[in-house]
Amino acid sequence: MFFCPKCSAILVPEQGARKTKLVCSCGYVSKEKEAVIKEEVKTKEIEIKQRKITLPKTKAKCPKCGNKEAYYWLQQTRAADEGETRFFECANTKCAYRWREY
Ligand SMILES: [Zn+2]
Ligand SMILES: [Zn+2]
Repeated sequence: MFFCPKCSAILVPEQGARKTKLVCSCGYVSKEKEAVIKEEVKTKEIEIKQRKITLPKTKAKCPKCGNKEAYYWLQQTRAADEGETRFFECANTKCAYRWREY
């Protein structure tokens, strides 16, 4: 999230014909942030790709789209006595819904 250097309001991405600009209601238009946003998106995509290669798939029904396969991983929860919780992410890349096992 980026903030307007003029009035500190949250900048809103505006989809242009070729590139996305960050604009503010006060009229401020950011140009430098374009590259940063693209870079962030790229990094995220790579991260997801890499993670999905390494994550095991299991048979679990997505509560959102009903897909029957999901990636899963174990994560230590904050409460020490709770132990590990299994997290799922829908294997349907268009959905990619995440939920945890209770
Ligand atoms: Zn502003
Ligand atoms: Zn799903």
